[in-house]
Amino acid sequence: MNDTQTTADPILSIRGVSRRFVSAHGDTLALQATDLSVAENDFITILGPSGCGKSTLLRIVAGLDRPTTGEVTLDGQRITGPGADRGMVFQSYTLFPWLTVRDNVCFGLRERGVPRAQQLEVAQGFIEKVGLTSFEHHYPKQLSGGMQQRTALARALANRPRMLLMDEPFGALDHQTRELMQELLLGIWEAERTTVLFVTHDIDEAVFMGSRVVVMSARPGRIKLDRPVELAHPRHWSVKTTPGFAELKGELMEQVRVEVLAAVENSRVAR
Ligand code: ADP
Repeated sequence: MNDTQTTADPILSIRGVSRRFVSAHGDTLALQATDLSVAENDFITILGPSGCGKSTLLRIVAGLDRPTTGEVTLDGQRITGPGADRGMVFQSYTLFPWLTVRDNVCFGLRERGVPRAQQLEVAQGFIEKVGLTSFEHHYPKQLSGGMQQRTALARALANRPRMLLMDEPFGALDHQTRELMQELLLGIWEAERTTVLFVTHDIDEAVFMGSRVVVMSARPGRIKLDRPVELAHPRHWSVKTTPGFAELKGELMEQVRVEVLAAVENSRVAR
């Protein structure tokens, strides 16, 4: 059963999107035909076992990869490549090492020909939002991992994208920094309501941040569960201790566990 919600007026539509990788070692069906509708202001977190096609799906939405079948539209326009309407933040630090924090944040604005004074004003606002005001003249190598991801977030937000696409953005951070980053991003989302597609393997993170949680099956991935998160906003970290949080987390743990076991079994059979 494809337990996928239908969204009345989606800004992003993923329809029948599959991806097969062909190589000398054989074919890999990474993603089965997948449908997902994302409404404006949704914060969708995507969970699933390693190798189930989460990054593949996100890369297709980003326009960094093409689907084998199906199509993705943003505001009704078919996605055929990367664009400033989708801001991306990945796990690995992707800042330009030769640019300061401020110039990293200005980068997309400069590319689009925004006048320098306006670039600096916009960058300043987002640098402030992510709490890096006194670090704007620092270079990435002078920053901690958390600060680098704050910069990457400010850089993505500065372009005022229609959507943020985030692939395990806090995956390389230590636990405490990760929790602070979750609160920071959630606070920004609550204020700005940017539409977000967020891949993670962390169930707590998925429930804490998401307005909807999607669970993907073991490879070839498909969406097997799509749940709204009925926890009130503004969400404080202490929501993690509430029965509502525990109940949804329990259900998701069970669903993800089934898929992780299936993925292990698949790789055993394939050996
Ligand atoms: P996830 O993000 O859920 O861990 P991925 O989307 O990275 O999963 O990968 C899904 C499957 O597709 C994996 O089996 C992976 O090895 C395979 N895959 C991903 N990218 C490529 C590629 N460029 N060429 C061949 N196989 C790939």
